[in-house]
Amino acid sequence: MNLRHYVRDIPDYPKKGITFYDITPILSSPEAFQYVMDQLYEKYKNCGADKIVAADARGFIFGAPLALRMGVPFIPVRKPGKLPFKNRCVTYDLEYGSDTLCMHVDAVDPGDKILMIDDLLATGGTAEGMVQLVKEAGGEIVGCGFVIQLGFLDGDKVMKAAGVDHDFLIE
Ligand code: IMP
Repeated sequence: MNLRHYVRDIPDYPKKGITFYDITPILSSPEAFQYVMDQLYEKYKNCGADKIVAADARGFIFGAPLALRMGVPFIPVRKPGKLPFKNRCVTYDLEYGSDTLCMHVDAVDPGDKILMIDDLLATGGTAEGMVQLVKEAGGEIVGCGFVIQLGFLDGDKVMKAAGVDHDFLIE
């Protein structure tokens, strides 16, 4: 299947000059969605992950069904103020400014083997923030998968610098 046909380019969203890669056509097609889930499952079924960590909001769409299929817990990472129990948060740099991501303090235990999942790797800021959160909790990242990597941005370098081996389905 050519997955690229199911990613819609939206020019000038959310700002002029930025092209947004819209994954909703994947979700609208049960065949394409199933294909993505099968690809992720085949890639990671033997990675040894104890838990899957995924970022709000599109990471949940792929991370949660993969966790169910792999039979491992699903850990949501969210913006501040969204998770009701005690939070562990990290603030990471963006091109202009900074952002904060949080997870529950009891979500990742020291020594846990973590698979990180998100829909798209762009600058790598979000993924780097997630790596920091997992590592601060004492987790070890054993896999990191994206549906899309934007090859013209620095996400790839950022992940390498963070010492995380990542993979993606399309670029
Ligand atoms: P980064 O932090 O710059 O790597 O951006 C990746 C994060 O922002 C992911 O959680 C994505 O869901 C979201 N994101 C950034 N650009 C896009 C896009 O073009 N399409 C879909 N999601 C995007």
